[in-house]
Amino acid sequence: MIDLSIVVPVYNEEDSIRLLWQRGQAALKTLSIDVEWIFVNDGSTDRSLHIIKDMCKVDAQTHFIDFSRNFGHQIAVTAGLEYAKGKAVVIIDADLQDPPELMIELYKKHKAGYEVVYAKRKDRYGESWLKKMTAKLYYRTMSRISAVTIPIDTGDYRIMDRKVVDVIINMPEQHKFVRGQVAWTGFNQTFVEYNREERFAGESGYTWSQMIRFAIDGITAFSDIPLRLVSYFGIIVSFVAFLLGLYALYARFISMDYVPGWASLMITILFLGGVQMIGIGIIGEYISRIQSDVRHRPLYVVKETNISHEE
Ligand code: UDP
Ligand code: MG
Repeated sequence: MIDLSIVVPVYNEEDSIRLLWQRGQAALKTLSIDVEWIFVNDGSTDRSLHIIKDMCKVDAQTHFIDFSRNFGHQIAVTAGLEYAKGKAVVIIDADLQDPPELMIELYKKHKAGYEVVYAKRKDRYGESWLKKMTAKLYYRTMSRISAVTIPIDTGDYRIMDRKVVDVIINMPEQHKFVRGQVAWTGFNQTFVEYNREERFAGESGYTWSQMIRFAIDGITAFSDIPLRLVSYFGIIVSFVAFLLGLYALYARFISMDYVPGWASLMITILFLGGVQMIGIGIIGEYISRIQSDVRHRPLYVVKETNISHEE
């Protein structure tokens, strides 16, 4: 029986994976437990897969899953969770921004009775102030509008009990937001704090547009507030329009001091047009996700793996 599975999503990380693996193994030796590594190669175009396969040759407990193309970080994590066999599972980034030595602390806290222990970022180094600021704002907004409490300032670096993993891999949605799903499961959750290091090498695989999409995935998957906001806003706008209408009638027929109001007309039309477009846009966000859930496509396609996936 494997005590701990370590799931590593990899997208063009040729410079850091080996070091991550070595540092992780060195650290975990002190625990003397059975560990397996699962590297999910998410369509890397560099030598990442080659390096991972070399590592697999040396260590029978190191495995790889090679996707047929790039499917995205959250899907790579999900695939790793599905293949993991351990009694507990750690998710860790490949770029050494998540210090592997922290796994020790995560594991110990988990053993002390927490089904989920996530790593909370105290400080983030080597990231632009814009990324830090938007991330901060995003996590705070999320925690206000979502129905479950998604911990602030945490990524996916965490340890989870088998019970939690089993719940997550049975969630059917296509747009994954793993940290939200974990929060949704409930269970005892706690955190340890750490400083997020600079990337060891290479550059972030997330573009701004991917980050925005990821942020919207998180919101639409876990909150109906945007949908509801549109309705509230619509009600308020309609009410104001009704009052204005009354006033218009009064001005036209009773006080008789009306001015042909081109400006106000334009403003009203433009404003309403704007509100409607926002509304339609938000509804569209949700519908597009319903759409992709309805398609029932597999989440990812595995080209090659050295893990036997027997149940
Ligand atoms: N990653 C991935 N697929 C992608 C983008 C990223 O598997 O399409 C991996 C990447 O190799 C890293 C982790 O996901 O291990 C986090 O990505 P990244 O460091 O680019 O995100 P950031 O830390 O900048 O938020
Ligand atoms: Mg990173």
